Amino acid sequence: MSESAAERDFDLVLTGGRVLDERNGVDDVLDVAVISGRIAAVGTNLSVRGRNVQDVSGAIVAPGLIDIHTHVYHKATSLSVDPGFISRRSATTTLVDAGSAGAGNYDGFRDYVMTHCPYRIFAFLNISFPGIFGFDKGVSIGEATLRHMLPVDRCVAKIEANRDRIIGVKVRIGGPVTGELGLGALELALEAANAVNLPLMTHIGTAPPSYADVVSMLRPGDILTHCFRPAPNSALGDDGRVLPEVRAARERGVLFDIAHGMGAFGYETAEGALADNFLPDLISSDVHVIAVEGPGYDLLHTMSKLLNCGLSLPDVIGMSTSRPALAIRKPEIGHLGVGAPADITVLKQVESNYVFEDVVGARRQGTTLLQPVSVYIAGKSMELAHRPFEEPFILSGSCCGHSH
Ligand SMILES: [Zn+2]
Repeated sequence: MSESAAERDFDLVLTGGRVLDERNGVDDVLDVAVISGRIAAVGTNLSVRGRNVQDVSGAIVAPGLIDIHTHVYHKATSLSVDPGFISRRSATTTLVDAGSAGAGNYDGFRDYVMTHCPYRIFAFLNISFPGIFGFDKGVSIGEATLRHMLPVDRCVAKIEANRDRIIGVKVRIGGPVTGELGLGALELALEAANAVNLPLMTHIGTAPPSYADVVSMLRPGDILTHCFRPAPNSALGDDGRVLPEVRAARERGVLFDIAHGMGAFGYETAEGALADNFLPDLISSDVHVIAVEGPGYDLLHTMSKLLNCGLSLPDVIGMSTSRPALAIRKPEIGHLGVGAPADITVLKQVESNYVFEDVVGARRQGTTLLQPVSVYIAGKSMELAHRPFEEPFILSGSCCGHSH
């Protein structure tokens, strides 16, 4: 009798880890088995049929991490970093570029970066024709100050031709990035997003326009990125409470994304919002050529920072896996259900005395860090890199196979 697919040996089994899969409501110590690059089973005692069995007891088994705000149009845009480097270091499987490219230079991103990278890369296309072209150490030139630099028809046409990789429209709004055009740039970006029926990701910077005015224009499913930026122009009012316009936006389905970067995470804002019971929907790094050297570093560091702010581990994992997958309308990734691509990130939570810092120099004593153990994309084991900025501050090995 020939062996049916259901009876085949598993290619890979990860045994004994704490599986955190928000989409499927799983938080339990289980084995995860893979066949032909897809999740084949999640359960107990699966190792008996495994050809490659890895004991991950005491570790966290999560869907592959998804960083929904990165800049990885490497070497063609001055702000971008190497997608391979950042994925290896942060144990990430999917990178979403947040508008590094516009309609005028997206083809190079696709042909010279995306197609050569083993990691999954998607993009928000910048409404600005040249994308983010003038951002580097000591250089900052706004890409959304001129109406004729934001041709809606060109953005729409480029998206229509590349719907496999482009998952939304990006615009940067605020201060010198938009100049006198202000909310006019947001109107043009919304016009493009409406035409292609995709989400808009909006950066919020210094005023004008105000945080309240920007968030009030967003539609259900749109993403406000840099949600916990420091004052002035933060999510909090003078009373220290979350602005009513921000609450109203969440009520209608607008998503709030961390996007730490070099200027967009302030402890005063984050702690005020969390105390007011306003959690982010999404955790991301906004990793770019400056933020990669701290205090944002990357997605994994930002996750550790939010964990030390008091968010639960299941929330932190969900905000970096299932929720970004749904936000970019890629429901096939970001979970560990049977049949899903076997994108898996294995982490350990360790004790640490790391002192975290926000973008305005405020510091907080941390107690714990997330560290990479192993990463798989479609069942294939990926290389990991060291985290020299964190490793000296690790006090113990694994501490957290179970909730506590
Ligand atoms: Zn960014």
